[in-house]
Amino acid sequence: MRIAIPRETEAGEPRVAGTPDTVKRLKGLGADVVVEPGAGLAAGITDADFEAAGASLAADAVSGADVVLKVRRPSTAELKAYKTGAVVLATMDPYGNEAALVAMAKAGVSAFAMELMPRITRAQVMDVLSSQANLAGYRAVIDASSEFGRALPMMMTAAGTVPAAKVFVMGAGVAGLQAIATARRLGAVVTATDVRPAAKEQVESLGAKFIAVMDDEFKQAETAAGYAKPMSAEYQAKQAALVAEHIAKQDIVITTALIPGRAAPRLVTAAMVASMKPGSVLLDLAVERGGNVEGAQPGEIVTTANGVKIVGHANVPGRLAATSSSLYAKNLFAFLEIMIDKATKSVVVPWEDELVKATLLTRDGAVVHPSFAEAAA
Ligand code: NAD
Repeated sequence: MRIAIPRETEAGEPRVAGTPDTVKRLKGLGADVVVEPGAGLAAGITDADFEAAGASLAADAVSGADVVLKVRRPSTAELKAYKTGAVVLATMDPYGNEAALVAMAKAGVSAFAMELMPRITRAQVMDVLSSQANLAGYRAVIDASSEFGRALPMMMTAAGTVPAAKVFVMGAGVAGLQAIATARRLGAVVTATDVRPAAKEQVESLGAKFIAVMDDEFKQAETAAGYAKPMSAEYQAKQAALVAEHIAKQDIVITTALIPGRAAPRLVTAAMVASMKPGSVLLDLAVERGGNVEGAQPGEIVTTANGVKIVGHANVPGRLAATSSSLYAKNLFAFLEIMIDKATKSVVVPWEDELVKATLLTRDGAVVHPSFAEAAA
């Protein structure tokens, strides 16, 4: 059983899908682990570190591999070197990318989208969305505060008192809750909003104030899976008026709102940005999914005419590449473990397992996932 950890080829992707720790664990299951030279460098892992953990190095790591561990979906060019029937685990970004799914089907690989992992207790250890969003939420506060020309905590000094900064977090899922906790640790006065009623208690338990129009629609605005539902135009207008009034008084706004499979909701308009004080900072964690903030640009820091900065860093988990790689690699290992038969030391995919069914995109030359099979046909 050969397991490959190639170097990521996508520009701006410093993470790696394996670490010395997961290499050791894979070796423990009887695998030969082959790492492409340089695969871990941007995440602070040298080839020698991988070798010391028991991996071998090869430029053509993926050729003949039964399993390929990746951060990003393999490109059509990369797929040429993959073995037919290989299991590929990655964040596949499947929505709206049906052509790329067809390419993986044609390559004959069994491709699994880690971001489709069910949010159930058994799969928590495999939940890449949570492991990466948690770090993104933390880093968002660090990045926003480093663009902010003032301190976050209140300071009483001989030279005068510095007021605490006001931080507003929009979207209190995994990233938002970590952003709230981080901003609180840095001494900011924190408020937050979300469309899911369950978020109110979580926000308050972190010592932040919850800001939302709490009408009947709000009370029902959560799917059985715990995700946000798109809200009615009427609710959005009421909420926007409340938020508009609140935002004008904030120093830092961090937006994290996503709805699976859709463009991110627009939460902050240009008029709201214009109402903020010069020197205020907005950081949009949804910028790569269409953006919560009007005017946010992926990979850029935009300064508006009124001196407000809109930070649109791409791949925020990648800005903590060592930590995000180590958690991501553990997520992959936990999922792969259910596909390895310990007696025969070989890959035996349990096709009927609910986690396999929920994440499997392609198999035996076809796009098989029910959410994408039709669009890909
Ligand atoms: P997400 O990344 O999909 O979205 C981020 C947040 O944005 C969510 O809280 C969402 O409600 C919010 N949002 C969407 N539209 C909004 C709008 N118009 N205004 C304000 N906020 C808006 O969410 P996530 O972090 O992946 O979490 C989604 C759910 O999954 C949550 O209920 C979370 O508690 C749950 N979860 C469960 C598990 C588990 O049980 N294993 C693990 C992680 C997350």
